[in-house]
Amino acid sequence: MALSSRRGLQLAQLLEQEGVSDTRVLSAIANIPREIFIPDALKHKAYQNTALPIGQGQTISQPYIVAKMTELLLQSSNQPKKILEIGTGSGYQTAVLAGIFAQVFSVERIKSLQFQAKRRMNQLDFHNISMKHGDGWQGWPSKAPFDAIIVTAAAAELPTALVQQLNDGGRLIIPVGDAEQSLKCIDRKGETFKERTIEPVRFVPLVAGDLL
Ligand code: SAH
Repeated sequence: MALSSRRGLQLAQLLEQEGVSDTRVLSAIANIPREIFIPDALKHKAYQNTALPIGQGQTISQPYIVAKMTELLLQSSNQPKKILEIGTGSGYQTAVLAGIFAQVFSVERIKSLQFQAKRRMNQLDFHNISMKHGDGWQGWPSKAPFDAIIVTAAAAELPTALVQQLNDGGRLIIPVGDAEQSLKCIDRKGETFKERTIEPVRFVPLVAGDLL
C-alpha cells in the first residue's frame, strides 16, 4: 500500500474529529490516494470530505461514510475476514476494505466503472480483491457465505439474497430507503436477524434492472 500522504493524513484527522476512532480505518484512509479514484477535473477536491461524481450518474462516497461503514464491519463480533461489497463504483471503498480485511469480493452493474476500478486495484498492488460485473441484488452466490456484507447504494428494501449469503454471526451494513434513507446494521444469529438503524444517509439507488 502507498505511504500516507500529507493530505491523506489530514483527511484521516478530520474523520477522527467527526467521530471515527478505529486506527485501522484511519490508517487505511491516510494510506489510500483518493485522487486516483476521481476524474481529472475534480482531483483538487479529492481530500475533501464530500461525495463526488465519477461518471455514469454515480458518485464516489463521502470519506466519512466510507470510514463509518468500515468501522461498523470491524465492530462485528465475528471478526470478519471475508467481505462482500455491493457497488464497486470508483473502487475507493473496495481499496479501504482490502487494506484491512483478508479477502474482498465486489460486485458492480456498470461494466465501465468496474473496469476502471480494477485498473486502480492493480495500480495499488492489491491482490486480495475479486471483482464481478453483476447485479448486487443477487449478491455473489458462488462465493457465499460472507462474514460481512457492505452495500454502497441505497436499496428500496432489504435484498433477501444478501441476508441469506451472510455467515452465522455475520453482519450486513446497508442504506435502505428512497428519498429518505437510513443506514441499517443487520446481525445474523442462526436464523434470527437483529436490525438497528445507525443514522440518516444519502446514496445513489441500488438499481434493479439490466446490467450496463
Ligand atoms: N463505494 C463506491 C460507491 C459508488 S456509488 C465508491 O465510493 O466509489 C454506488 C455504485 O453502486 C455505483 O457504481 C452503481 O453503479 C452501483 N450499483 C447500483 N445498483 C447496483 C446493482 N444492482 N448491482 C451492483 N452495483 C450497483
